[in-house]
Amino acid sequence: MSTTQVDIVTPDGKVYEGEVNMVSARAVSGELGILPRHMPLVAPLKIGVVRLKHETNTEHVAVAGGFIEVTPDHVTILAEAAELKEHIDLDRALRAKERAEKHLREMDKDHKHYERVRLDLERAVNRIDIAED
Ligand code: ATP
Repeated sequence: MSTTQVDIVTPDGKVYEGEVNMVSARAVSGELGILPRHMPLVAPLKIGVVRLKHETNTEHVAVAGGFIEVTPDHVTILAEAAELKEHIDLDRALRAKERAEKHLREMDKDHKHYERVRLDLERAVNRIDIAED
């Protein structure tokens, strides 16, 4: 089966580098499924899971927004933060979720930090969903 090279890069460095059979990612425009020899594209990503499918297993990566760039033999994901499922600290994410929920309860929707805290919550829930899956 053919493969494509995948790199997942964050400001902290490279989180993943390898050959995969298929990549799926949550773009702003909808779910993307990328097979080798896909047409070139660049798309913004939502907070979500990136699935890296191999012949016998699938790896899951929590991605906190960013961009995906696709060429026929290469997929690059530039993410603000990304963690492989096995590197997610579940307790930390549960604490982050509680903290964000508490802040949101105490905040008006038009508070200048409301959207930032809502995104904190979304990242924490994404990490929890992936870690517990
Ligand atoms: P926290 O409030 O727990 O610090 P955060 O939402 O502020 O979380 P981010 O800004 O999304 O964290 O990410 C900052 C850095 O911390 C990134 O390098 C990210 O990979 C890492 N990180 C955040 N939460 C976790 C987690 N639960 N497990 C592993 N790494 C994490």
